[in-house]
Amino acid sequence: MNRAVLRKTVAARIDGLAEHAAGVLMDLIRFPSVCGDEMGAIARIEGLLEAAGFEPELVPLDASIAGHPEYTPYAAEPGWEGRGNLVTPFGGHGDGRSLILNGHMDVVPAGSWREAFEPAREGDTIRGRGAADAKGGVVAEYLAVKALRECGVRLSGRLRLHTVIDEETGGNGTLSLLATGHTADGAIVAECTGNAICPANRGALWFQLTTTGVSAHMGEIDNGVSAIEKANQAIAILKEYERHLIEHFMDHPYFRDLPHRPIQLCIGMMRAGEWPSKVPDRCEVEGGIGFLPNKDIEDVKDEMRQWIRDKGDDWLRDHFELRYERLHNAAFEIPSEHPLVRCVCGAATAAGLSERVQGWSVSCDARLFPQVAGMPVVTVGPGQLARAHSGDERIELQEILRAAKLYALAAMDWCGVEGP
Ligand SMILES: [Zn+2]
Repeated sequence: MNRAVLRKTVAARIDGLAEHAAGVLMDLIRFPSVCGDEMGAIARIEGLLEAAGFEPELVPLDASIAGHPEYTPYAAEPGWEGRGNLVTPFGGHGDGRSLILNGHMDVVPAGSWREAFEPAREGDTIRGRGAADAKGGVVAEYLAVKALRECGVRLSGRLRLHTVIDEETGGNGTLSLLATGHTADGAIVAECTGNAICPANRGALWFQLTTTGVSAHMGEIDNGVSAIEKANQAIAILKEYERHLIEHFMDHPYFRDLPHRPIQLCIGMMRAGEWPSKVPDRCEVEGGIGFLPNKDIEDVKDEMRQWIRDKGDDWLRDHFELRYERLHNAAFEIPSEHPLVRCVCGAATAAGLSERVQGWSVSCDARLFPQVAGMPVVTVGPGQLARAHSGDERIELQEILRAAKLYALAAMDWCGVEGP
């Protein structure tokens, strides 16, 4: 069979799996696979892959990553026992380039959405927590390898499906695989980009600001220093830093045309004081900052501190601490002419998708591939970001099928196909 015919056969096979895909997705949504509770859903996809003739392997999380610079501490430690990622190999019959298809099985909690884990289908639309972020993408990757196998495609390079946990909490699932040598010549990460091709990721950094003052009775207010007022001053300086970034670092080819501003600084939490008529001597503020690949994460950390030192008053300068102890995701970009980006663009066109290349304005596991393993990566997948994490999360079945075709055709092109 010639290559063009083989590609058409694979695409047609994926269309033929539409109803199966809908059933699998609804099945996966029924598992409330929030952090610490992912293994039921992982076992379900493992069973499906085995039934399809694959040999998936459960790779336990490696606790030694807790000392890795890219490790993200948990808000509530879920424990390591019994938790792992699923690695499913396929192909590797020659010496073609290897590829990882990464997708995450963990989801954010239901919130006030009572039917979050009771999937509903109306025509081509499937609702439920994780439909878009990212169980729809996991299903698309599964369909891709299933169709390749059923069509007898012999990939020259090795393809590995990485079905991971812990994405929503910072990426320790993918980190664990990459840090233990599960790497390849390229990777595609399934996230709900609306099937836009994203070879770049915005960075995201959480910060913890503490200001200290001198407590005093309200009647003695001139002898006190309010830590809340000093924190307000520091916040105003940080917002000025945000405006500086927007003014000077927003003009980036991957990000300039996005509908939402990808640079922002958010103050999310504040704790201070214990009595209405007492000057508070300590204020704790937590927030996040988003920035583009033209800013190094270490520079952002240093500059935020330096701005407060330079622009704060005499007291603030010596009485604040700015720490970065939780989420710390650097930004990255893969050049648009990189062979992996060209390959994914070609596969998108062949899959009937537009060749839409842009930055991804939220952070995800993709960053870990270049940072931990020096690998090129592209984020692309079905579902709309606006639906992710919402109380009305949904996805269109057709989007999943188109993504599956993109993944399968990209794998054929990147890994190469052996035989006639
Ligand atoms: Zn996601």
